[in-house]
This record gives sequence, C-alpha cells and structure tokens, in this order.
Amino acid sequence: MKKSYKIEVDCANCAAKMEDATKKTAGVKDANINFMALKMKVEFEEGADPKEVMPRVLEACRKVEDDCEIFF
Ligand SMILES: [Zn+2]
Repeated sequence: MKKSYKIEVDCANCAAKMEDATKKTAGVKDANINFMALKMKVEFEEGADPKEVMPRVLEACRKVEDDCEIFF
C-alpha cells in the first residue's frame, strides 16, 4: 500500500535525512520525499497499518528536525 502525505520541513538536507529515517522505520517498505513539493510518499509493508506506522515515522523524523510536521 502506498500513501502520500503533505509535510513541513525547512531544508533539503533535513528532508533527505527524514527520508532515510522513514525507510528504517518498522512497517515501511520504501519512502520518498520531494522537498520542492513538500510531499512524502510512503510504501507500507504488507499488512502494516499506516495509522500505527505513521506516528513512528513522525517520531523518527523529529529526531532529524524537531519541528518538522507530517500531516496524516
Ligand atoms: Zn534542516
């Protein structure tokens, strides 16, 4: 399952680190962040519930940039 989310992040460097952090999050198969569009695409593992995975993704991303936001 793939979903797309609007995000808030202040620089391309943090966006790249957030993409890596998202990919390492349990339940995430793949992730892509488009900094120019401020969009994040997440592909979830089979059977993973986005409602459970996305809070973990946000937590991981906030370790990169503590005031970033993902609208899910
Ligand atoms: Zn930054």
